[in-house]
Amino acid sequence: MKSIWTKFEADYSYRHTDLKSLSLIDHFFVTESFLDTCIFAAPLHFGDNRSNHSPIMLKINIPLFTAKENVGGLTIKRPNWKKAYSEDIEEYSYKLNEKLLQLPLPSSFGCLDVSCQNVVHSLERDSHVLDVLCNTIETSFECIPVSESHSKIMKKRPNLHGWKVNVLPYKNDSLFWHSIWLSMGKPKSGGVFDVMKHTRNKFH
Ligand SMILES: [Zn+2]
Repeated sequence: MKSIWTKFEADYSYRHTDLKSLSLIDHFFVTESFLDTCIFAAPLHFGDNRSNHSPIMLKINIPLFTAKENVGGLTIKRPNWKKAYSEDIEEYSYKLNEKLLQLPLPSSFGCLDVSCQNVVHSLERDSHVLDVLCNTIETSFECIPVSESHSKIMKKRPNLHGWKVNVLPYKNDSLFWHSIWLSMGKPKSGGVFDVMKHTRNKFH
C-alpha cells in the first residue's frame, strides 16, 4: 500500500492548536496499481473548518473494466510489550514524559464550570486528548520492539438493513479505540481502557 502523498504534493493536513506546528498525518492508502488511477489529491483548507484536521480529497479515474486483485492479508504492526526490555520501557517513559512536557496545555483547562457548554473548550479538550494519545502511540513505536502479525481478509457478509446507519459508527468507534488500547499494551485500567470498554459495549 502507498500513501497518495507519494504521488501528489501536499502542504499539511493537521494544524496543532498552537497554530504553528503542521503535519501531514492524514492519508489515503491505495495499492500501487490503483495509484495510477488517482488523478489528483490535496488537503482542503477551509476557513470555517473547526477541526484541527483538514479534509483530504482524492480524485480517481474509474476505469471501464477493472481487474480483481488479491491483496492478501493485512500486515498489522504493533509494539510488543512482552518483548520489551526494562531499558526499553524506561526509555519509553522518559521520552513520553519529555514529549508531554512539550505539549502546551490549552488555557481552557482552567475552566471550573462543571456544566460548561463552551464549544471551544470542548474542542480544545478533545484535541488535547488526541495529542496525548498520538504521542503515546508514537513513542511506543519508537521505543518498544515492533511485532508484525497477519490478518486474513474476511469474507464479505451481506449487510443487514439499517446496519450501516445504526451500527457501523459504533463498530468503527469500537475498532479505533480497541486498536489504540492494543498498541498501548492492553492496559487493564485507565482512561483508554475505559473508553475501549465503553465503545465496545455500545457496539455489542
Ligand atoms: Zn469550559
